[in-house]
Amino acid sequence: MSSFPVSGELAVRAAEVLARLGADAPSSPDGPVVSRSPITGEVIGRLEASTAREVDDAISSAARTFTDWRLVPAPQRGAVVARLGQLLTEHKDDLAYLVTVEAGKVTSEALGEVQEMIDICQFAVGLSRQLYGKTMASERPGHRLSETWHPLGVVGVISAFNFPVAVWSWNTAIALVAGDTVVWKPSEITPLTALACDALLRRAAADVGAPAGIHHLIQGPREVGERLVDDPRVALLSATGSVRMGREIGPRVAARFGRSLLELGGNNGAVVTEHADLDLAVRGIVFSAAGTAGQRCTSLRRLIVHSSVADELVDRIGKAYEQLPIGSPLDETTLVGPLVHRAAFTAFEDALAKAKADGGEIVTGGGTRFADQLDDAYYVEPALVRMPAQTSVVHEETFAPILYVLTYDDFDDAIALHNEVPQGLSSAIFTTNQREAERFLSADGSDCGIANVNLGTSGAEIGGAFGGEKETGGGRESGSDAWKTYMRRSTNTVNYSTELPLAQGVNFL
Ligand code: NAD
Repeated sequence: MSSFPVSGELAVRAAEVLARLGADAPSSPDGPVVSRSPITGEVIGRLEASTAREVDDAISSAARTFTDWRLVPAPQRGAVVARLGQLLTEHKDDLAYLVTVEAGKVTSEALGEVQEMIDICQFAVGLSRQLYGKTMASERPGHRLSETWHPLGVVGVISAFNFPVAVWSWNTAIALVAGDTVVWKPSEITPLTALACDALLRRAAADVGAPAGIHHLIQGPREVGERLVDDPRVALLSATGSVRMGREIGPRVAARFGRSLLELGGNNGAVVTEHADLDLAVRGIVFSAAGTAGQRCTSLRRLIVHSSVADELVDRIGKAYEQLPIGSPLDETTLVGPLVHRAAFTAFEDALAKAKADGGEIVTGGGTRFADQLDDAYYVEPALVRMPAQTSVVHEETFAPILYVLTYDDFDDAIALHNEVPQGLSSAIFTTNQREAERFLSADGSDCGIANVNLGTSGAEIGGAFGGEKETGGGRESGSDAWKTYMRRSTNTVNYSTELPLAQGVNFL
């Protein structure tokens, strides 16, 4: 049985935590930007939205600061990110508490999100000495051909509610070592975690003597973000959120020849073959599908199972689902916390109704918890639904814990079903058969940006590039060479001879 904080307790504790992090208190009792805790549904802080003038000032300051920041040697730029990593380590519990209170994540996942921030800071500091260009063999004697990476400019970051702090750090840590400056518009429903991150970075900058103008926080609804979308001084717009959002902003950034990095919705699938280790599969599936109450972009939403193992697997997942502790994410034993708000709950119920109308059978879950205790908080039982076919509702991302199960007999059909949806973020196969595993990872296997073998679709490490194909937007952030999106490439040819041979043997003069 879960216990919930008494009325007013969350607001008081959030204010204390913000004070410890050195952040301003959310001081506008009637402000339109409302932080409401999904744990109880109560308001824990209100802010004013940034005005047009404030957004313009933020972009101007970031653009001005960029002209100096780009000249600071990259390893020195790394110092501010190294300091941010130290501060995050020091304040890990406090920041994770705010993530739990504002986004509803269970404590271990909230701590994991802050750990991801620390990890990306370490990665970025290492990167600050490794922004490598290439040297190519020139076809001309006495010539050297190479490429150099230079800072790009102001990076606008728009982020989603469900990773309220990590996505900011993926972008900001890399952008700062790349020599860029940042203007951040977080989700309008997670403004307090944003105040905390901004305060920590301001402190890091002051501690190492970096200019304060390297980072600016603007707050408010999508209209505030639209100013970043349309401003030609924003060289790169990195936007994380729904496909709807990406569809709106992608063409607008392209129309002004800006660069965009889009991290949009997923509709992630896992194939379970007749050769799978089912013990391992059940654990990987349950974490990916029910963890974070299905509110990760990489949450598992579709299971494509060989018909010979489908009944056993569904039975085992169903039993695991029935054991899942659902409740306040502040309770140590809870594994499934609340949905973020009423609209998410309505989407959950609508999707289940559509699935049933399409012939789906709800094997387990789909109910609500604590509705009699809490008026405006939404705790649901993760739903496991057997579908006769991949109908239109299965093609959509419903940001809630619903796992649709489909069956197959032929491996080619499994891959075709897997790739049929418009999104292309994360994917997995459970098998002990090497041919199946390699085929899934090959050019005619999974069409996603992330393809895993014998683990679930969620829970990526920062070392790899993160992102997806098709309607997921094509962007890559975090590790590997994702940093290149935050820089501009210059190809350089130097003639150190006394002749002027032209390329391709052309003669002129
Ligand atoms: P959302 O699209 O409602 O909002 C995301 C952000 O975009 C918010 O800051 C919002 O204010 C802003 N925004 C929305 N429309 C805008 C517009 N027209 N112009 C400028 N800004 C605009 O998404 P959400 O509900 O906060 O987050 C859930 C979604 O995000 C899911 O679809 C999830 O899959 C996706 N997501 C993707 C990734 C990824 O890396 N691919 C990571 C996390 C979340």
